Amino acid sequence: MKRIKKPAAWIAAWMLVIFAAASARAADFGRVNVILWFDTEDYLLPASDDAAKHLAEILTQRGIRATFKVVGEKARVLERRGRSDVIAALRKHDIGYHTNFHSYHPAPAEYLAECGLLDGVAEFVRREKQGAADVRRIFDRPILACYGQPGSSWASQAIVALPQIGVASVYVDDGSQVGLRGKPFWFAGALNAYDLRENVTRMDLNGENSLETANAAVSKIAQRLSSEGGGLISIYYHPCEFVHQQFWDGVNFSHGENPPREQWKSPPQQPPQQTDQEFARFEKYIDHIKSLGVTFVTASDLPAIYGDRVRSEGVTEAELLALARRLADGKTTGVDYQLLEGKAVSPADQFELFAIAVGEMIDGKTAIYPLKATGILGPDSAPGAVIEGGKPIAWPAFRDAALDARDYVRTFGRIPARIYIGADSVAPADFLAALAFAYVSGSPRDGVRLGKGISVLTEKCVAKDPAGHFGWVIHKPDFRPVKILDVARLQAWTLKPALASAPVR
Ligand SMILES: [Zn+2]
Repeated sequence: MKRIKKPAAWIAAWMLVIFAAASARAADFGRVNVILWFDTEDYLLPASDDAAKHLAEILTQRGIRATFKVVGEKARVLERRGRSDVIAALRKHDIGYHTNFHSYHPAPAEYLAECGLLDGVAEFVRREKQGAADVRRIFDRPILACYGQPGSSWASQAIVALPQIGVASVYVDDGSQVGLRGKPFWFAGALNAYDLRENVTRMDLNGENSLETANAAVSKIAQRLSSEGGGLISIYYHPCEFVHQQFWDGVNFSHGENPPREQWKSPPQQPPQQTDQEFARFEKYIDHIKSLGVTFVTASDLPAIYGDRVRSEGVTEAELLALARRLADGKTTGVDYQLLEGKAVSPADQFELFAIAVGEMIDGKTAIYPLKATGILGPDSAPGAVIEGGKPIAWPAFRDAALDARDYVRTFGRIPARIYIGADSVAPADFLAALAFAYVSGSPRDGVRLGKGISVLTEKCVAKDPAGHFGWVIHKPDFRPVKILDVARLQAWTLKPALASAPVR
């Protein structure tokens, strides 16, 4: 009897261990979030309406909410075709925005290619506000959950413009113009789930062994993120992919082609049995992901997951002093984002915080801690001809310049492109070092030392050259919007990691 009992106890014990390990693993995967998003854009092939509805229903049946980024013209077409059933199915999910016409030229990066920051924001608002208003009206949403660009037609001005067209400051897409090691980040006033690199995955809808390959790939990512303490996986599709043989826009608007509306053609549709197979395969893929015990999130969940504590709570006096010492040590050659306990502080946050704190000091007051940053933007242009830094400037001249910088920040909500010291001007990064120096040393009689050639280190997160970052069949083959990256580089001031404050269950 003993000989029989013993192995049974042994097996039972091991089963417990395995069960405990499996439970622990499932719990760990709870910190792995998956955002599933669908660019809902084909306004030509009616079968893509049904595809969107079917996808929404597949997910609703499983208690999963996804993010449908809808094109303005697509929303209007659904309304014109009387597809209240499609609209109702999608409304059970998050609704984001995906431009007014998507690929009809000029696409966003085309019409923003020669713009600066402010005129670019105004131009984006002018061209895109009607589409966003239509999506809001048709889907009965006071605000849309996110935006993402068509193809690779990206520009930082679009990000800044979002609140002006009724879209939350959340960017959900994939591309490579700006990124932070495959993790979500703050940039240009918005939370960006962008350039997530090795954390972006998808199943090929019609490959032979694509389900097995995709299941293994997503499991591996979840495992890795889990071992890192959690993270975000991004998976995206287009409803039209399930029904067409070729993308709707490629048929009409490739390489700058721009036929008038009367000549728009529907793309060829794939055989219904292929569509059925693809949906079946997609359902199995989703079931596998769900079985991992990950958390499905939508665009509107992201701000709560990645709450910015520098804005909500602020920094303590000790934290600000530590930031100041780092910048004012006389050896610093660049300003970077800084990580405090559960808080990320961008270069722009540092400028804002020091402009406020030093301003209070000059006013003979003490700033109230914790001191909150509002999240100002980067400058609207390069500094231009500025004096060389590194020298001390007399206290009265610095005092007046610091108060003027604070006033600029409060008035315009962005970093000044240059700071005037009398008739001369200095670059904002050099002046930031001077603000930090003044914060550390009080009101120094010997003057305040300017930084010398301080660089904004987060600029390395923005692509240097447009080649390879704007390739899209809809853009002209030689499209190289250099200025879009120049404008974006100035917004690198605002870049910092988005730190997960709490997993959402
Ligand atoms: Zn798209």
